[in-house]
Amino acid sequence: MKAIILVLLGLLSFQTIAQNQPKLVVGVVVDQMRMDYIYRYWDKYSENGFKKLMSEGFTCKNAHFNYIPTYTGPGHASIFTGATPMNHGIIANDWYDKASGKEIYCVSDSLRNSIGTKNKQGKMSPSLLLAPTLGDAFKVSTQFRGKTIGISLKDRGAVLPAGHSADAAYWMDYESGHFISSDHYMSSLPKWVKAFNAEKHADKLAKEGWQTLLALEKYTESTEDNTPYEKIYNKNGYPVFPYDLPQLIKDKGYYAFANSPFGNTIVRQFAEQAIINEDLGEDEFLDLLTISFSSPDMVGHSFGPQSIEIEDTYIRLDLEIAELISSLNERVGEGNYTLFLTADHAAAQVPAYLKDHKIPTDYFETERFESELNAMLVAQFGAGNWVLSFSNQQLFLNHALIDSKVINEEEMLNSIQDFALDFKGVASVLSAKQLQHPLPNDQFASMAQRGWNPLRSGDMVVQFLPGWMSYGHQGTTHGSSYNYDSHVPIMFYGFGVKQGVELNPVDITQIAPTISIITSTAFPMLSDHRPIVNAIATP
Ligand SMILES: [Zn+2]
Repeated sequence: MKAIILVLLGLLSFQTIAQNQPKLVVGVVVDQMRMDYIYRYWDKYSENGFKKLMSEGFTCKNAHFNYIPTYTGPGHASIFTGATPMNHGIIANDWYDKASGKEIYCVSDSLRNSIGTKNKQGKMSPSLLLAPTLGDAFKVSTQFRGKTIGISLKDRGAVLPAGHSADAAYWMDYESGHFISSDHYMSSLPKWVKAFNAEKHADKLAKEGWQTLLALEKYTESTEDNTPYEKIYNKNGYPVFPYDLPQLIKDKGYYAFANSPFGNTIVRQFAEQAIINEDLGEDEFLDLLTISFSSPDMVGHSFGPQSIEIEDTYIRLDLEIAELISSLNERVGEGNYTLFLTADHAAAQVPAYLKDHKIPTDYFETERFESELNAMLVAQFGAGNWVLSFSNQQLFLNHALIDSKVINEEEMLNSIQDFALDFKGVASVLSAKQLQHPLPNDQFASMAQRGWNPLRSGDMVVQFLPGWMSYGHQGTTHGSSYNYDSHVPIMFYGFGVKQGVELNPVDITQIAPTISIITSTAFPMLSDHRPIVNAIATP
């Protein structure tokens, strides 16, 4: 009898655990969001966006990417697989493919067809992603009855978070401004997507152009509107408000629309339609919705972190977050979903701007580096094309040539290392071999190791000095191991989340296992096993 009661109790507690999960997880990625954007624009945020996530949810104030390169493709893959490029294989956005000798793009798939457009922008899939995602784990745990949908303006921002077994991933076709997909997921767009596209939301949102939300003089957390550190994409020849979006769309396609805060609005609107029309969070099977806001990255690249354009983008994004939370509360119900918000990488300050304020940074001369390196190798080892590619700060050597000339590879690697260390702007250079056993306190080496995939990565990796980049003098980029590129917000809100703040260092790969624990599901196959314990409410 006692045994039967124990078994019954066991079953009961099992049932409680099985039901102990939200109906929906919403994973929000803000492309290129630096942690300090939370603090810098704090006074201008509403009560219901970032502030609500912080006051009612859990915030990691010291969260970092734990590998390089800090780019969009690897970032989204790492957040949702809980792994790093070493294991998930997305080593960059584009990389030199050792097998074919060609550049490949992280989500392109020539075997797939576009859905919703006649052009090639839909020929995408997660086939290069070597690890399953949170969505894949949810799918298995619900016998594929839960839904997973990925949404972004960027194809890679939708495809990589959604994972392999997703019901759908949608991204923007920059020719039409429509949301499109690939036949990896479906044979035609659902009715609601066609209806959304037919309403021409992008044109409606762009109609009045881009003016600042507040009066221009209120943007006291930024430089003045017109500085030499911003890219010019307006017709008037200055990087200043207002931006004539209808004209820019005519000239440059909907990429120009994406390069404005209204790109966030359309993503939020489309996500709300997905929640309603796909019944996300309705039934008992756990669903996942991934939303990646791409526009902050495009605006950041164009104007840099100190611009009024970026400040205005974040003040408006905060309102979109508030709107998203309010529609989730209305549709799915407060306490029925778990939301997390993070970024796929942060961004550097514009080097020219720092330089003008006496902070030592500069621009790396990539072309000169490549030509002088090749000249050195020819002088020392004979004629030949020794370096097949220098991309993503990795050198891919010509192994066929090295083998045919019976050259000591070790000697060549040493020569390259000596040459590179003498080159202006280089901080360190490591070979694949050296990465196998990085010194425990060498942050760059351990980040490079986690970013290194033996099948896909090159022979050596070059680190620039802090603040240095290979880029034009206007706008900015990211990709390094330094704090300005690695430090991003991680926020949790809703079901299973404890209110609080974490000040200890947290790695980006800890998001996935945290969500696994909150949802009582199995960890994604290659995920980090260190959930952010303090963020989880224990019943
Ligand atoms: Zn990005």
